[in-house]
Amino acid sequence: MKIVVIGTGYVGLVTGTCFAESGNDVTCVDINQEKIARLNQGQIPIYEPGLTELVKRNAEAGRLKFTTDVADCVPEARCVFLAVGTPMGDDGSANLSGIWAAADSVGPHLAEDSIVICKSTVPVGTNRQVYERLKQSLGREVNVASNPEFLKEGCAIQDFTKPDRVVVGVMSEEVGDVLEELYKPFLRTEHPFLVMGLESAEMTKYVANCMLATKISFINEMANLCENVGADVNEVRKGIGHDQRIGFQFLFPGVGYGGSCFPKDVKALIHTATQHGMQPGLLQSVDDVNNRQKQVLFRKLDRYFQGDLKGKTIAVWGLAFKPRTDDIREAPSLTLIDELLEAGAKVQAHDPVASDNVAAIYGDRIQIIEQQYDALTGADALAICTEWNEYRTPDFDLIKQRLTSPAIFDGRNLFDPEKMMRRGFHYSGIGLTQPQ
Ligand code: NAD
Repeated sequence: MKIVVIGTGYVGLVTGTCFAESGNDVTCVDINQEKIARLNQGQIPIYEPGLTELVKRNAEAGRLKFTTDVADCVPEARCVFLAVGTPMGDDGSANLSGIWAAADSVGPHLAEDSIVICKSTVPVGTNRQVYERLKQSLGREVNVASNPEFLKEGCAIQDFTKPDRVVVGVMSEEVGDVLEELYKPFLRTEHPFLVMGLESAEMTKYVANCMLATKISFINEMANLCENVGADVNEVRKGIGHDQRIGFQFLFPGVGYGGSCFPKDVKALIHTATQHGMQPGLLQSVDDVNNRQKQVLFRKLDRYFQGDLKGKTIAVWGLAFKPRTDDIREAPSLTLIDELLEAGAKVQAHDPVASDNVAAIYGDRIQIIEQQYDALTGADALAICTEWNEYRTPDFDLIKQRLTSPAIFDGRNLFDPEKMMRRGFHYSGIGLTQPQ
């Protein structure tokens, strides 16, 4: 099938590449000329495990192309996916200017039987507006479908090619059939292809992300309470997780959720609910708890240094909002760095892949260090924001040698507090009891 994907970011590039891998003829389009030029030279603009090889193989096979010119590829395409960004607007609502621009750019070139499929996360009603907009400008019926994406950065290819489910919102059965055919290679293990109305599909994406964000804020609030009452959240997790109604997934306390999806999607659903005269108290609390949780490491550091961080040097391990990605959008590490700089501390930071993105924000206001142990040299404490694998079993002797005082503030509970005490560290995690 001939496919065009508009927007070549985390979602668009993975979508286009995986459809090419299953034998389709795919063209990925972006307005960012530099991005397209780099892709045409075989350079992948994002870090996503396994993606480079897959792009290379499909580009070499002639199944995957990159362009800035919609007129070149859209007329031939049966499916035109919109995968542009829908960032947060000033009032918390989703900014849909990318969607309108993308729809307007493809509209005049659409073939009679083509389907415009929105993969971007968009508020309820957006797909119907895309349909009305295209119908009005073309003066004829147009097929529009919603196909929200559930992939996780860092695991995107696996998630796309082996999805738990595929959700499509359609206005006609035939469109559902075309999309089912397209997704068939990825659903061979009987995972469901769920066809529903446009609005339900749009809502499904927000409800999924808000549920996951709720779990994170819930366990973070419980972890903070555990710490205050002398309970250990790791023990409590086990105590609740074995209850099959609760389970273990997504109940890891930490420094709050970040990334390009949860923060903006929670805010967008709050905005939608408010617009409909509701008071989304639960979602508002999820957002508030998360904003407070992003400050948890700073509060601990500030307490440890008795309110005087001025002139102190803090090493920060982990800048990406989560491991296996270079995405730093809304990353908790940025909140910590901002607060440390505000308090007059110096920051020496390390991340396996996200350093350049962070350097682009802070310039010479912080030091980005290439080697993880070098970031510790002369630092007064280490703060861990992201649970990259290479931080999980570090050389503790080397850490002690490099730090001026052996203090670790661990936002991901990577280590055992008792062992850390025996190793001679001041160790503070999230919701853990201090060994006596
Ligand atoms: P992104 O910012 O990484 O990429 C968006 C791309 O679209 C950019 O390259 C941009 O240049 C391009 N673009 C913008 N307007 C365009 C236009 N008019 N024509 C052509 N290209 C245009 O965004 P992303 O992270 O891939 O997210 C895309 C959508 O998917 C968002 O709605 C997001 O909420 C949703 N989503 C993201 C993830 C994720 O993990 N990143 C997961 C599921 C869903």
